[in-house]
Amino acid sequence: VAVLVDPIQRLANFVRLWQEGYTGFVRAMELLEVAPDIEDRPGAVELRRATGAIGFRDVSFRYEEEGPHVLSRISLDIAPGEFVALVGPSGVGKSTLCALIPRFYDVTQGQVSIDGLDVRDVTLASLRRSVGVVQQDVYLFSGTVAENLRYGRPDASDEEIMAAAKSANAHEFISALSNGYDTDIGQRGVKLSGGQKQRLTIARAFLKNPSILIFDEATSALDNESERAVQQALLELARGRTTIVIAHRLSTVRNADRILVLTEDGIAEEGNHDALMAAGGFYAGLHRQASI
Ligand code: ADP
Ligand code: MG
Repeated sequence: VAVLVDPIQRLANFVRLWQEGYTGFVRAMELLEVAPDIEDRPGAVELRRATGAIGFRDVSFRYEEEGPHVLSRISLDIAPGEFVALVGPSGVGKSTLCALIPRFYDVTQGQVSIDGLDVRDVTLASLRRSVGVVQQDVYLFSGTVAENLRYGRPDASDEEIMAAAKSANAHEFISALSNGYDTDIGQRGVKLSGGQKQRLTIARAFLKNPSILIFDEATSALDNESERAVQQALLELARGRTTIVIAHRLSTVRNADRILVLTEDGIAEEGNHDALMAAGGFYAGLHRQASI
C-alpha cells in the first residue's frame, strides 16, 4: 500500500483530533491510518449549539474511488431530539452512514447537513463538539477511572465526573473498586465487564454533552443486569438530544421514535415498532427470529 499522505500532516491531524477530545479514541487511531483529506474549508463557520436536525440529501458513498458504493442515494431527515434506531444486516453500511455525520468520511455525492448547514461548511472542531459517538469498541487507556472519564471533557471537575458517572449508572460499580475513581484500569489495571466499560464511555459522553449522539450498540452479549444498566444509561443520555442508535437489542429498538431498516437497497422500511410489526416485512421477520 502506497503511503501518499505526509506523515507530519497525519500527526498534526491526529493531535488536532485528540485536542478536540471527541469520544472515540479508536476513531482517531483509524484516521491516523486512513488519513482522508478531511479538513476545514476556507471560510468554514462555527456550528453553534445545534438543535440537532440531521439531513441526508441523496447521499452516496464509497470508500475507494473505483470501489463499490456502500451507500446509494440515501435521503433522510431526523428531527431535533428524535430517537432513531438503525437496524439491518451486517455489512450493509449502518456504521458508515453514521460516520458521515461527524465527517469521519466525506460523502462521495450528495449532502449531509446539521441544522440545515452542510457539515463540510462548518469547522471540524465545532462539528465534533456537537456530535458524540459512543462506539462498539470501548477504548480505555491505562490510567485511573477519573482520567479515562475526563477524556470526555478535559476541564471537567471531580464533581462533574461523578455526576456523569451517576447518570451513566456507573458510580456504584466505580465506588466498589479498590480505589474508587482513582483505580487503575486499562491494559494492566482491573478487569471490567463489557457492560461496565460501556457505561464508562456513556459517562464520557455525558461530560461532553453533545446535541447529537450516535451510539453503536455492542453486539457482544451482556448479562441481563448489565444490559438493563446500559439501556437505562443510554435512555438517560438520549434525553434532549438527537440520538441514532445502531441497535442490536430488541429493547433499544422498541424504545425508538422511529426504526430505520437499512438493506442493500437503501432504507427499506421505516416506522415505529408497532407499525413495522404490522407491515410484516423485514423488521417483523428479524423480530420473529429474535436475531436483533
Ligand atoms: P454495518 O455497520 O452495517 O455492519 P459498515 O458500515 O461497517 O456496515 O460496512 C459497510 C461496508 O463497507 C462493508 O462492506 C464493509 O466491509 C465496508 N467498509 C467498512 N469500513 C471500511 C473501510 N474503512 N474501508 C473500506 N471498506 C469499508
Ligand atoms: Mg457497524
